[in-house]
Order: sequence, then structure tokens, then C-alpha cells
Amino acid sequence: MNNSKFKESEKIQFDVIVVGAGLAGSSAAAIAARSGLKVALIERGQNPGGKNFFGGALYPHALEEVYPDFWSRKPPLERPVTEAGFWFLSKDGLVKMTVQGGQLNQKPADAYVALRAKFDPWWAEQAQKEGVFLIPKTAVVDFLRDPNGKVSGVLTDRPQGEVYAPVTIVCEGVNNLLTQKLGLAKHDLNPSHVALGVKQLISLPPETINTRFGLPSNEHGLAISVMGDVSMGLTGLGFIYTAADCVSVGLGVNLNLLDQHRIRPYELLQRYLNHPFIAPLIAGGRLMEYGAHLIPEGGWRDMPKLYTDGVLVAGDSASMVNALHWEGTNMAIVAGKAAGETAVAAHQQKDFSEKMLASYRERLKDRFVMQDLYQYRNLSRFLNSHPEFMDVYPNFLNDAMGMFFGGFGKPKKQLYREILHSLTKRRPLYRAAGDLISFGRTVMGW
Ligand SMILES: Cc1cc2nc3c(=O)[nH]c(=O)nc-3n(C[C@H](O)[C@H](O)[C@H](O)COP(=O)(O)OP(=O)(O)OC[C@H]3O[C@@H](n4cnc5c(N)ncnc54)[C@H](O)[C@@H]3O)c2cc1C
Repeated sequence: MNNSKFKESEKIQFDVIVVGAGLAGSSAAAIAARSGLKVALIERGQNPGGKNFFGGALYPHALEEVYPDFWSRKPPLERPVTEAGFWFLSKDGLVKMTVQGGQLNQKPADAYVALRAKFDPWWAEQAQKEGVFLIPKTAVVDFLRDPNGKVSGVLTDRPQGEVYAPVTIVCEGVNNLLTQKLGLAKHDLNPSHVALGVKQLISLPPETINTRFGLPSNEHGLAISVMGDVSMGLTGLGFIYTAADCVSVGLGVNLNLLDQHRIRPYELLQRYLNHPFIAPLIAGGRLMEYGAHLIPEGGWRDMPKLYTDGVLVAGDSASMVNALHWEGTNMAIVAGKAAGETAVAAHQQKDFSEKMLASYRERLKDRFVMQDLYQYRNLSRFLNSHPEFMDVYPNFLNDAMGMFFGGFGKPKKQLYREILHSLTKRRPLYRAAGDLISFGRTVMGW
């Protein structure tokens, strides 16, 4: 079959259409093709990952679910994550709370830094090896319907661009226009439930990365979430990931708050990159890329209905992201796999009805995807209504640690009084205690 041209006269018929060759899409397509189905994977980019500037963490548990022989395929991963945790920035200080060794010594590691511009083409290539027919440079613009109104395929932006299949898996990412078109998403993206991620990829020699981040060798990597003097008090997190020969530094901040406070994302990023504890880490590096991407943070509360007659939705398009843990890639892969399995089951039963496809949700019900999204269902709201977590507490932590490790020769009773005062001058004690309890309850899902 010719990848580049649709023949005008033929009705192009597949068993399964997958929209979007990101992590969810290529996973869904591979699973469906492995069982012998004829699968079209339609990607609007020049090639999969072509526009993806992500440098973040991928999680082997999910990758191995799709390819049990994942490691023997020589995946293009950058570095295992051997140090991870939080950094708390004040205006001119830094408290680090990271872990290395111990649980993180596992081989393979639980997380690997990856560059999606490299990884996604490779991930799609693995799907092609299963028999998936990749159609790049083609955007799906609408759905085709049979006389009963059931989705029977997709309309692409190519001339005579109708492609037919009894089941379509939508993995279109955060801009879920197709999901909305189906009426599955309740509404357009809500700016207060979306973070804008802005970041830079900065090239540095591997030895420089190792020295600056305290990594013993190229076989060690760092994944850090940064709180405090990153987001100017707005709900958001910074991040730093070390790849093989570049560093990915950026932040994700609530889009609505950016707009309300009239803060330009790139100025915020620049401010973060100029911080006295961040700037030396990237000094002299060459800017390889910078860009912005939305992150759906509404989670459970924004999740669209995941299926309808002839259609399934997976990944970011279904709001499957746990923003606190930076878990979106594994949710996309696991959901993509479950969608692929559901398409296979539907073909076995020759039933593509909504009732049959509802088993997709059942497949995800007992997995971390649904469980975590439900557990964290109130987190986004909580953080938006508790800005103290973005400035008061990181600043207090910096002061408290500084005082504790600097209060030599001072009566310790006085030292503790001063530490307590540095909290209470920012937030009354009863409120701080309440914040902590509410945070705990929100995260635990109580
Ligand atoms: C700055 C940032 C940092 C992040 N860091 C992490 C991290 O460290 N770890 C983690 O797990 N997650 C992270 N995430 C989240 C993670 O990137 C996403 O959850 C994940 O990529 C979702 O995968 P997906 O396959 O659903 O969507 P995507 O990867 O966005 O793929 C969607 C694909 O569909 C294609 N497409 C869209 N519309 C159409 C159409 N109409 N026709 C054809 N093709 C179409 C797109 O071109 C794209 O290739 C981060 C996100 C951001 C923005």
C-alpha cells in the first residue's frame, strides 16, 4: 500500500482507525494490529512527535505493557531517573527534598527521561512493525456517519479524504476538538482546568550536566518538580529533567490565572531561568528549542464520556493526566492499550455499539488511571483556592531551614520561637494547620 496517496476511486476501509500518533494512539494501534486487524494510524504532523518538544519522564511499567520485550528493542531513552523530588525556591534561596539510591536504584529504573521528538517516531515505528498503516501529514477534521447516525469513519483534510472503519479511537491530545464534536466532552477546554506548559530545551555537554547536577555518570538522571518562586504565586509547578546532552527546564501554570494576572508565560519562564539557583545550572547552554503546550488538569471532573457507538477516546483528549505526579504519558499508553483491546473485542463480537465499547471503561476501572484520577479529583480546585502552597509555604520552608541550620549560639527556645514566627507572620497557625489537613485529605481523596 502506498503511504502517501489515497486512490480516488477506492473506498478506504480499515478495521480500526486511530487518530493521533502520540503515545496513546501508537499504543492503541499496535495492540489492535497485533491481533490481525487492519489499522490506520492518522497523524497530522509531518511525522509522529514532529511537533513534540516534551522532555520529561516516561515510565517503563506502561511501555512494557505494550511491548513485553521493550528493552530488547533498544528504545531511544535519555537517562534513567536516579534522583527525583521537589525543590522549593524562595526569591534567593533553595531547599531541596530529593531522593536518590535506595528504591531508585532499580534496574530498569521506574522512570526514564525521554525526548518525545525522538521517542514518538520510534514508538510509532514499533506499531508499524505490528502491521499498522501510518498516514502522516493528514488531519482528521470530522467524522463520517452511517444512515443510523453511528460513526463509520473519519473525514481527513486530504482530497477525497474519507477513511472508513467500524471503530475509531480518538487520541488527539489536549486540544480535543473531535471529542467535543462527538458531544462526549461536556464543554470546550476550561482555562481554569488547563495549565500552560512553557519550557526550553538547553543543550549542554553531558559532563557539564553531570557536574552541575551532581550526577555520577551519564547513566544517572534527575527529575525535579520545583515549587515556590517559580510561578509568581500562581498555581503551577516548575520542572527540570536532565536528558543525555540537554536539560529540559520549564513550568506549567494555570491558564486562567495567567490571563487574570496578565502575566506573559515567556516572561514567567525567563524569570524562572534567571533565578540565582537555576541560572548557573544552564549557563552557557545553547537553546535548542522552546515552546508551549497545554496540560489538561481537570482530571476526573473534566473527563469526557469515553465511548459512544463506534468511538473510543484515550489519553490527554480524555483529560487523563495526574499533574502533581507528572503522570500523563503512562495514563495515555495504558488507556491506549485498553482502547486497542476493546476494539479487538468489538471485532470478535462484531458489535461496535456503545454498550459493547463500554467495556473500555471497565478495563480501566481497576487500574491506576481511573483510581488516581478519581482520588485527585479535587486537587486542581484545592490548589487554585490555596495559593499559599505556591508562595507562603515554600518561603517559610526556606526561612525555617535557614534559621535551623544557621542559629548557632542562639538559645534554641528563641530559635524555635523565631521559626514559628516566620510562619505565623505569613499565615495564622490554625490556618496553616487547616491547610495541611485539607491538602492531605484532598490528595488522599477523602
Ligand atoms: C510541558 C509538559 C511536560 C510534561 N511532562 C510530563 C512528564 O514528565 N511525564 C508524563 O507522564 N507526562 C508529562 N506531560 C503530559 C504528557 O505529555 C501527556 O499526558 C501525553 O503526551 C499524552 O499523550 P497523548 O497520546 O494523549 O497525546 P499527545 O502526545 O499530545 O498526542 C496527540 C497526537 O495527536 C495528533 N493529532 C491531534 N489532532 C489530530 C487530528 N485532528 N488529526 C490527526 N492527528 C491529530 C497530534 O499531532 C499528536 O501527535 C507533560 C506535558 C507537558 C505539556
